[in-house]
Amino acid sequence: MDEIAHKLERKGVKPTANRMLVYQALVDQHRPLSMRDLEMQLLTLDKSSIFRVLTLFAEHDVVHAVEDGRGIELYELCHHEDESDHMSSHVHFYCEKCQRTYCIEEMALPAIQLPEGYHAHSMSFMVKGECPQCNKNKVR
Ligand SMILES: [Zn+2]
Ligand SMILES: [Zn+2]
Repeated sequence: MDEIAHKLERKGVKPTANRMLVYQALVDQHRPLSMRDLEMQLLTLDKSSIFRVLTLFAEHDVVHAVEDGRGIELYELCHHEDESDHMSSHVHFYCEKCQRTYCIEEMALPAIQLPEGYHAHSMSFMVKGECPQCNKNKVR
């Protein structure tokens, strides 16, 4: 828990009990989570508390919001210490079977060249299909 408190403080967030719980849930799952996923993980917190923590986290770059294959907002931890590093994001994979979203960190995003006058703040890249788990469970 000390490490989490330290990480939050470095991003300018006071480490309260609720905030540490939400952070821990995101660390444990190793994948982007929706509000609903978090509610199921954090039964001791009510929906509005979780939402408040996530909003604050997003403002301080503790988490990033990602949209999943159904247009639902997911939250994942931002692993960049440096705020200017948002463009070096990663690919996400949405499994149409189990409806989970995975981070594919091993794969770099293709470099894009925007026309003059456009200034990007973030970029998302979503691949849809079947995850290894669902692929394996298929009856042949
Ligand atoms: Zn799956
Ligand atoms: Zn991710």
